[in-house]
Amino acid sequence: MDVRILAKPRSGWRVPPNMPDYEAARASFSWEAAERALAGLPGGRGLNMAHEAVERHCLEGRGDHPALLWRGRRGERKVFTYAELSASTSRFAHVLAGLGVQPGERVFSLMGRIPELYLTALGTLKHRAVFCPLFSAFGPEPVRARLELGEGRVLVTTSALYRKKVASLRDSLPHLRHVLLVDEGGEPGTEALHDLLARAPDTYEIGPTSPEDMALLHFTSGTTGMPKGAIHVHRAVLVHYVTGRLALDLHPEDVFWCTADPGWVMGTSYGILSPLTHGVRSVVDEADFDAERWYRLLEEERVTVWYTAPTAVRMLMKAGDELPRRFDLSALRFIASVGEPLNPEAVLWAQRVLGLPIHDTWWQTETGGIMVSNYATLAIKPGSMGRPLPGVEAAIVRRQPGGGVRVLEAPGLEGELALRSGWPSMFRGYLYDEERYHKCFAGGWYLSGDLAWKDEDGYFWFVGRSDDVIKSMGHLIGPFEVESVLLEHPAVAEAAVIGRPDFLIGEVVKAFVSLKDGYAPDEALRRELLALARTRLGAVVAPKELEFQSSLPRTRSGKILRRLLKARELGLSEGDVSTLETPT
Ligand code: ATP
Ligand code: MG
Repeated sequence: MDVRILAKPRSGWRVPPNMPDYEAARASFSWEAAERALAGLPGGRGLNMAHEAVERHCLEGRGDHPALLWRGRRGERKVFTYAELSASTSRFAHVLAGLGVQPGERVFSLMGRIPELYLTALGTLKHRAVFCPLFSAFGPEPVRARLELGEGRVLVTTSALYRKKVASLRDSLPHLRHVLLVDEGGEPGTEALHDLLARAPDTYEIGPTSPEDMALLHFTSGTTGMPKGAIHVHRAVLVHYVTGRLALDLHPEDVFWCTADPGWVMGTSYGILSPLTHGVRSVVDEADFDAERWYRLLEEERVTVWYTAPTAVRMLMKAGDELPRRFDLSALRFIASVGEPLNPEAVLWAQRVLGLPIHDTWWQTETGGIMVSNYATLAIKPGSMGRPLPGVEAAIVRRQPGGGVRVLEAPGLEGELALRSGWPSMFRGYLYDEERYHKCFAGGWYLSGDLAWKDEDGYFWFVGRSDDVIKSMGHLIGPFEVESVLLEHPAVAEAAVIGRPDFLIGEVVKAFVSLKDGYAPDEALRRELLALARTRLGAVVAPKELEFQSSLPRTRSGKILRRLLKARELGLSEGDVSTLETPT
């Protein structure tokens, strides 16, 4: 693979980076020392995410600083200061107390990115109940399944969503005692949230919170099968804080925008907690992706640090290079991405068109926060996920028949990406699936299920999910490498590669491609793309078959669902499609 390197300047930074020297930071890092940056509950009563995110800033005299910059779908704009967030989340915590909700019980949210979502999350954490966010676009069955598994005690939602997705299922949810509507709905069996909030006091003393108390229940994206409910504890806030500082390079005056919905872990860890622990201004956009709106929002809010996902980057690329030139993006200082492999082409596109590269980061619902990352001061090798966070030990391993693992020390060897278990935001279980949880660990390592390799400089490179890797003529082929080459072609907007079982060679590499606006699929283009792949990848790795689709199936969190393409190809059952994005 030809590797281009984007070097970083040694000086002349607009804002001096938090981590000037990665190697030095890694050598001296300790979680015990890092924890001293957190406030902790007053009186030594433990560690609580909401205290770190909101209360501490008020106690330290920064209550007037804006916390959330909320942009409504129809052009509204509201600013909530840390003091206002403190008051409204205290009210919500009192509401829960008044409803008899006990610490540890689950409070679900089902709503778009409206202010009530954020006060539900933080107020729930204050009350030491467990916050579990659902995508508002989920259909009734995924909502029911998650509420049932998570034994949701309270649901906060809108009357429209309640009518459409919950009302008819209410009888099958015996744990669900209270449904709080954020509007005036007045549906039978529900209560009006704002009436309850108005009657509640606006200060709330957070009770003693053990760092090991359950704080969040997050369902995985369901890319490889039925989503799992990952349990996170209050201690995870240490990783939210440290990654905000070291990986996202947050500084107090930053305006940060994480584009993700809290329905997946990125939107909670980085759309709520991490920026607030740093006391920065955090942008929330209620609306869905729209290239022009996004550039305008970057300009108007003067966003400095922007955290988004490859699917959004590909859509921005699709919208063309001219569009961003119409906006003043000069405030932007740092761009990062997570969720799927970030193709080298995307990193280079951003450098060329936005004037900044994109820093890929790797993590999962299970890891609670960024584990492998590209950093402000470290050279980027486009296509690489970067290097492990200081305090995190990552390795490439192979499972051994007896249940242990073998660490592959030599660079260049492919294996499973593993993390030394015990980092603060490590998930503490899959809800009611202990066996599955235990299967993720071996020999002191957490095994991620992703295949990768490490180069001689310690950079990690994603190969594919172990379920997606293709076996063809005795070779293991990672879909990412093949897709990245197809994306180099100017006509290609998205590409997904699967293995179609074949009697003779094991699996045939098959590509699905969607095109950018202005390009039409035809036989000539199909041949051209196959030829490009053959030249760049060689005959063994290059796809033999290529099919055009107007768009590729994706999860709600924007990940291409290769397993669905494969199931359709083979005429098999589509499996769990609860997280499939469908036009709403
Ligand atoms: P499920 O576990 O239900 O199949 P999921 O794994 O997609 O769903 P998430 O926890 O949201 O659920 O996603 C984590 C996965 O996303 C990682 O295991 C990895 O496969 C992929 N991913 C995240 N970041 C990157 C990245 N930078 N490069 C490549 N893949 C990434
Ligand atoms: Mg997963």
